[in-house]
Amino acid sequence: MTIEQVIKKVKENDHGADTDLIRLAYDFALKAHSGQKRKNGEEYIQHSLHTAFILTQIRADVPSIIAGLLHDVPEDTEFTLKDVEKNFGKEVAMLVEGITKLSKIKYRGIERYRESLKKMFLAMAHDLRVILIKFCDRLHNLRTLDALSPEKQQRIAQETMEIFSPIAGLLGIWRLKWQMDDLCFKYLLPEEFKKLEYKYEVEKKLERTQFINKVRDVLGKKFKEEGIENEIEGRFKHLFSIYQKMQKKGQQFDDIYDVFALRIITTSVANCYKILGLIHTIWRPKPNRVKDYIAVPKPNGYRSLHTTVFCLDNKLVEFQIRTKEMNEEAHYGIAAHWYYKQKEGENIVKQPAWIKEILDMQRATENAHDFIKKIKFDVFQDRIFVFSPKGDVFELPRESTPVDFAYAVHTDIGNKAAGAIVNEQITTLDHILKNGDVVNIIIEKNRKTPNKDWLRFVKTARARDKIKQNSAKSTFDSLKKFFPGK
Ligand code: MN
Repeated sequence: MTIEQVIKKVKENDHGADTDLIRLAYDFALKAHSGQKRKNGEEYIQHSLHTAFILTQIRADVPSIIAGLLHDVPEDTEFTLKDVEKNFGKEVAMLVEGITKLSKIKYRGIERYRESLKKMFLAMAHDLRVILIKFCDRLHNLRTLDALSPEKQQRIAQETMEIFSPIAGLLGIWRLKWQMDDLCFKYLLPEEFKKLEYKYEVEKKLERTQFINKVRDVLGKKFKEEGIENEIEGRFKHLFSIYQKMQKKGQQFDDIYDVFALRIITTSVANCYKILGLIHTIWRPKPNRVKDYIAVPKPNGYRSLHTTVFCLDNKLVEFQIRTKEMNEEAHYGIAAHWYYKQKEGENIVKQPAWIKEILDMQRATENAHDFIKKIKFDVFQDRIFVFSPKGDVFELPRESTPVDFAYAVHTDIGNKAAGAIVNEQITTLDHILKNGDVVNIIIEKNRKTPNKDWLRFVKTARARDKIKQNSAKSTFDSLKKFFPGK
């Protein structure tokens, strides 16, 4: 991968994009990572370039692509976040910081799963682009998983399936989700993966390609006569989704594979209906298999016309008919909206509205739906989430202070708290914490009791109770201080 390839793709997405800064970011990353190698022996910069390239594939904006190039700089090189900010500005630095924070998520078993999901949501609430960059970073890591130890392969694949993939689905970024799923499938269930891959890519490939070409010929001619612009795609079944279907329905590969699927992409909604009509004049539709998801979109926003017909050789074929825009949405989900909005020149800085949109979309299964409802209440109403330096998440009421945090971690840390470092800045103990802060408590080792003054500002019942309990034995002096009049 070269920076030229990245820039070429950026220009394809947006002629007017200012690519000079992308080039500078590349030079910066190249210098910062110079001499570093990936586990597979490649230059480290290749990882930065691939991450940026995947970002161009989901049409990310220029600051995201720059952040993609720089995403591992503060963590893995001698250059700091400050250096990034100095050279590339606040916006890019903020994105890189978000990714660095997210990289502290580790898969530590299912009990941590929800916490990790919350963290992802938290980062999203901050800026959705952070999550998108993280997905692209993860996807490239999955593609180069072969170089790692089997233990690491398992851990990363599992973490992806538990955390990243469901969120990609939630956001409707299917293009990334499917790739992640198929790569993880290969490492988590290697036997099943190999069997399916052989059937799909070897046994059935020729048959599939020949059949699709024949259908394409028939339809192509017809569409040309009618002057309907179209593109026909024939490969969009993904191995993991086939596997899931087999598991769910207890079916064999051939039962599922029996139905060929073709996708037709055209220029307007009117054309979608015209194409549906044309297909039905050529081949007989299977009853009850015509679905109009344009007039009535799926709850997750998905739009398309579906029909299954008795096609050539009387084979059952499912057609999906949609416009280019619907296709973008189906592939890129939330990212597509973002792209279109941007194209219309709207200001997209207002992140909270975005989050609301995500939540309203409810792109999810029943469970995730409940999860979202909970998140909606927790995250966005009266709770904040702060991190320990190790990356553990603590849920606190809004306007909590380092003292609340200290008692949430451990009573002893609360009792001995002397000061706090919030996001690497020394602060006072009554400092109001914000969503996403990283909090480190400075401890005074020899102290036994808390300061009753803290009662004036703590927000949690736990901190309040602990301060009262533990300061019972405090000296008369501190009582005097607390009631200066007496
Ligand atoms: Mn990375």
